[in-house]
Amino acid sequence: MKTILTGDRPTGPLHLGHYVGSLANRVELQREYATYVLIADVQALTDHADEPERVRRNVLEVALDYLAVGIDPAVATVVVQSGVPELAELTIYYLNLVTVARLGRNPTVKEEMQQKGFGAEVPAGFFVYPVSQAADITAFRADVVPVGEDQLPMIEQTVEIVRRFNRLYGATLVEPAALVAKHARLPGTDGQSKMGKSLGNAIFLSDSRDVVSKKVMGMYTDPQHVRADLPGIVEGNPVFSYLDAFDPDAAAVAELKARYRAGGLGDVAVKRRLIEVLEAFLAPIRTRRSELARDPAMVERVLREGTARGRAVVRETLGDVRRALHLEG
Ligand code: ATP
Ligand code: MG
Repeated sequence: MKTILTGDRPTGPLHLGHYVGSLANRVELQREYATYVLIADVQALTDHADEPERVRRNVLEVALDYLAVGIDPAVATVVVQSGVPELAELTIYYLNLVTVARLGRNPTVKEEMQQKGFGAEVPAGFFVYPVSQAADITAFRADVVPVGEDQLPMIEQTVEIVRRFNRLYGATLVEPAALVAKHARLPGTDGQSKMGKSLGNAIFLSDSRDVVSKKVMGMYTDPQHVRADLPGIVEGNPVFSYLDAFDPDAAAVAELKARYRAGGLGDVAVKRRLIEVLEAFLAPIRTRRSELARDPAMVERVLREGTARGRAVVRETLGDVRRALHLEG
């Protein structure tokens, strides 16, 4: 059986982008692959060092999101990163295989540094997070990593580290491949190219119907489309990106697009449809989530048991790595 490793930073609850970018694939593949899902709380601290309570709180929120969308703890292993300190040790060894110049060229880190306004004052831990991700992926000996498009540079860097390690010290690590979903980069409600937990442009899987309605009604559309009778632009219009991702009736979406392009279809009408489509998708997740939230002890147990199982795998990999590095015996 091949292995999957993916994860999320507990910087907030999960959103629609997570679902289409990665969660849907995980749920679909969890029975075919040995699946490990990492709640990356140590990584979350790299840019939230001043908010440890927030990270802690969101470990539970993210776990609830997983269970609510159908990640099944009977087949998939949910691991809390801070419960596996061996990952930090691996990171230290891999840091020697990466140059500062190479890290500085990682396009996603560059973009995130800009968004966060870090400049030269970037926390060193944040700057090197692609290396800690390489440790996570290889520690579980992952063959496949289901990720959104923004994470492709991380997989690329992981592959480089694996090749370098295996060349220098002998075949030890498994080389992973990314699995990118059809909707690999869901835009934000503000029209920015990526919905993100930390960007204030997300619709969360746990949002109430009212909150979803408000967010959709406030969504960015085509800024030139100021009147219903004018022709509108569908490309780069997030309302249509969401319909593409969540409306099961593709023919109806195609018809809406045609009418919008021709003129005569207002933004409000399209948004109303989107609210219904999202409600049909989110209502069952919300119900299941609130049921699960009533039993936090069960969620804690899933995390404790998953972390223990995951840690056993990581310890084995670390043993191999230490032997390859002549650090043992
Ligand atoms: P943060 O803003 O704190 O970085 P995030 O929203 O980017 O949060 P992550 O926890 O960093 O979420 O990402 C977890 C996974 O979800 C990654 O595989 C990432 O590629 C995927 N993902 C995140 N946002 C999107 C999106 N808008 N579209 C598709 N996939 C996404
Ligand atoms: Mg992110």
